[in-house]
Amino acid sequence: MKKLALHWQIIIGMVAGVLFALVLSNFSWGPTFIQDWIKPFGNIFINALKLIAVPLILASLIKGVSDLKDISKLSQMGLRTILTYVLTTVIAVSIGLGAVNLIKPGHSITEETREELIANYDGDAELKRKDAQKQKEAGPLQALEDIVPSNIVGAAGKNENMLQVIFFAIFFGIGLILIPEKQAQPVKDFFDGFNEVILKMIDIIMLFAPYGVFALLAALVVESPSTDLFAALGMYTLTVILGLLLMICFYILIVWLFTKRSPKFFVDGISPAQLLAFSTSSSAATLPVTMERVEEHLGVEKEVSSFVLPIGATINMDGTSLYQAVAAVFIAQAFGMDLSLGAQLGIIATATLASIGSAAVPGAGMVMLVIVLAQAGIPEAGLALIFAVDRPLDMCRTTVNVTGDASVSMLVAKAVGKLKDRPFVKNWDDHYKK
Ligand code: ASP
Repeated sequence: MKKLALHWQIIIGMVAGVLFALVLSNFSWGPTFIQDWIKPFGNIFINALKLIAVPLILASLIKGVSDLKDISKLSQMGLRTILTYVLTTVIAVSIGLGAVNLIKPGHSITEETREELIANYDGDAELKRKDAQKQKEAGPLQALEDIVPSNIVGAAGKNENMLQVIFFAIFFGIGLILIPEKQAQPVKDFFDGFNEVILKMIDIIMLFAPYGVFALLAALVVESPSTDLFAALGMYTLTVILGLLLMICFYILIVWLFTKRSPKFFVDGISPAQLLAFSTSSSAATLPVTMERVEEHLGVEKEVSSFVLPIGATINMDGTSLYQAVAAVFIAQAFGMDLSLGAQLGIIATATLASIGSAAVPGAGMVMLVIVLAQAGIPEAGLALIFAVDRPLDMCRTTVNVTGDASVSMLVAKAVGKLKDRPFVKNWDDHYKK
């Protein structure tokens, strides 16, 4: 019997998880059973992925940078990558603003619903708000200062500080380019082998993926807040999802136009990473799989993917920026505020920066949203309005974040002549035999 493709296995795992939780919710012991006996397997799965993230970034980025052989090649690719990332983010925010201004979901919120939601503003949200407050109080150069770690072990120890690990790896790689070949070679060989081991570990973890997402989704269903709040926020949710879908179409289109790779090829290649992003709500946890898919199935050479993807997972969050734009305008609408064109342009700038600053972990986009709100003069209490639906939207925006990184890696690879031809792509025949 032919083995089911990984994305189908994951989809079956997700659906089974939801159904399982819905059935068990009918029993009084059901939710506790899922929390105690099912959820831990989801956590183990996410932990295993996160465990791989730091060594993977270190090994693949050091190898990627040192393979570039000269610094001018590195800066050329770096510049192209950053510019494309910023451009796609600005496009995402603009799509979000267009959608929310057109649909005006905030106008459907009544005074009572707003007050009820704010009254229900729970401790968890409050905690996040405090976190956000800290972000807001940071000086203008704080983000830059945070890139340079004072201690590599400390930086690698916290999964939220990916940018510091990336900084170290690029710096190390540059050092490796600059020393004589004789000394550099054994170091390169070491990281080469190290990288292969990590990739094999990812393969092993992915065998567990269908069960991992089963557990994650089952736990999510029993933890969801009540549904009447969802109804009040339905239009807002739909607006974000519509914007995100447009963004996915945009990626498929640019990949098709610039690399001549068909939508089917792109979607088949990236879908397991997308499903994982959806289940974990974390670009960082998904990174190992994104890298594997982009290299082995979309044909991007390691030299490019190992550079473009870790940076993308950390700073390129198109889904997050789109969501922040919609959320900010939605809250303004709900409070009866009219945002001027100037304020909306301000949102483009702040949502771009806030998404760059968001950590690639669940819920980070909402914490950073406070910066966008503060800049546009929108009441922060509005966070209470959107809190209930943040998790499902987080799942969707993370999917877009990961798709954006993969698309840009293909564009950059094409531009620098590092996109492999079709016959070299693993499983090409499986997809296209017929
Ligand atoms: N969860 C998102 C990510 O990891 C960030 C966010 O909260 O928007 O990409």
